[in-house]
Amino acid sequence: MEEQDNGSKRGKVYLVGAGPGDPGLITMRGRYLLEKAEVIVYDYLASRKLLRYVPKDAQFVYAGKRGGVKHAHTQEEINQMLVDFAKKGKTVVRLKGGDPFIFGRGGEELETLAENHVDFEVVPGVTSATAAATYAGIPITHRGYTATVAFLTGHEDPTKESSNIDWEKIATGIGTIVVYMGIKNLPNIVKNLIDHGRSPDTPVAVVRWASTPEQRSVVGTLATIADTVAEAQIKPPALIVIGDVVNLRNTIDWFEKRTLFGRRVIVTRTREQASELVAGLEEEGASCYECATINIEPIEDYGILDEALERIDEYHWILFTSLNAVKHFFKRLFEKGLDARDLKGPQIGTVGKSTADLLLSYGINADLIPPVFTGEGLAESLLDQGVEGRNVLIPRAAEGREILPETLRGGGAQVTIAPLYQNVPPQGRREELRDELESGTVDMVTFTSSSTVRNFLTMVDAKDQEELERLMDGVSIAAIGPITAKTVVDSGLTVDVQPEQYTIDAMIASILDYYSAQNT
Ligand code: SAH
Repeated sequence: MEEQDNGSKRGKVYLVGAGPGDPGLITMRGRYLLEKAEVIVYDYLASRKLLRYVPKDAQFVYAGKRGGVKHAHTQEEINQMLVDFAKKGKTVVRLKGGDPFIFGRGGEELETLAENHVDFEVVPGVTSATAAATYAGIPITHRGYTATVAFLTGHEDPTKESSNIDWEKIATGIGTIVVYMGIKNLPNIVKNLIDHGRSPDTPVAVVRWASTPEQRSVVGTLATIADTVAEAQIKPPALIVIGDVVNLRNTIDWFEKRTLFGRRVIVTRTREQASELVAGLEEEGASCYECATINIEPIEDYGILDEALERIDEYHWILFTSLNAVKHFFKRLFEKGLDARDLKGPQIGTVGKSTADLLLSYGINADLIPPVFTGEGLAESLLDQGVEGRNVLIPRAAEGREILPETLRGGGAQVTIAPLYQNVPPQGRREELRDELESGTVDMVTFTSSSTVRNFLTMVDAKDQEELERLMDGVSIAAIGPITAKTVVDSGLTVDVQPEQYTIDAMIASILDYYSAQNT
């Protein structure tokens, strides 16, 4: 046996099924292994989103293998690469679309490993045939329809004299037939089935990019499906599901029926913000493009805050106007060796419910949450209580809206603004955003603060109003509240969706209402 580079540790190759497309469909074992990988060798069909579980310092190797397109590596090169990495003592994850043993050449890769005495393990995946059927609302078996199902490859050379597939037995002996890699050969496949005795009226569904937000499906019969697919320009990767069970789709189709299915939404957000909005929209079928419009950067000098903290008992109020303000405030508080107990004295107000919730996670119950979740709302509520002669501390971004401090000062308060961080538009990503808008596929852009609007416009960088309107033509706009909406309107655009409550949940509900109305 050859010597291993890395004295003690033996390398091992884990052949892992990535599932059909939706990253949520990988197994728990598969995900666990991704988190431990030192080398990851992944295919075209394995969801890129799964790569986020791989440690950043791992070696990433794209193996290519996309039908008909020049391969990044030949199968022999991939086999050899796996052997070489393992012999160097590496933990290698070989990530493959669907299930590695179903038309995945997983068997061949393992044969090479076995010949070279490399340790390996296989983790099955959800194969695209079951996923495509499931996500198209088709149970591949059903007591009332069929007890048999076959998985075929449609990739066989159609001019080949003797086929590996016994078409006669398949055509008449199997209930449900699912064909992988069959789009190019579809006319031959349906002809073979009809010629060998299957009824031309047999229902057929073709499903592309199953289980992803890009899923598309068309249905027909053996007689019509080839034309339908050609007309709809369905390209690989797609699966062909043939059999009477396809009719059940009329009753139990579910995935493509979700309210936001097929909608492309640009979600503008600050990089640090949790993607609650994205998760909520995707749950309803939307395909989201997350566009970070603001980078939160630290400030150099915490002088004002530090000084305020030293005489915190002289303040009557501390006001938090954003989640980031809460986070950065406590970061600094902890850095100074203080904690929630040191905030005894002043009352605490927040601009809205999420900010209050976050505050509670730091052990502080807000004394004031205004009925209207805006700076104005907070100012109003405080004015009602009377602020004459009160000391108010507002820890927040270096640059922010002046309405709250000014209103309070107008009411006679002493206001201290303590800068915690800076909002700056991120570099890069501009072209990506322009391309999205130019492509004409965007249905909606969401804004959750005035700065997301301003920074979005900076990033889009339209040369004039006319160009901006052209880029935003057909794109609906959702704004979380009246201030954000006003910033949208001031820039010459129109707001289509605005929830009554200024929360992410209410925003999602309003977007759903908007599209439900359009879908019917
Ligand atoms: N090992 C994979 C199959 C690889 S063969 C599995 O178990 O799913 C490649 C073929 O799989 C494609 O040509 C296509 O027919 C099918 N396929 C893979 N992912 C798909 C998806 N998300 N939607 C539709 N078809 C898919």
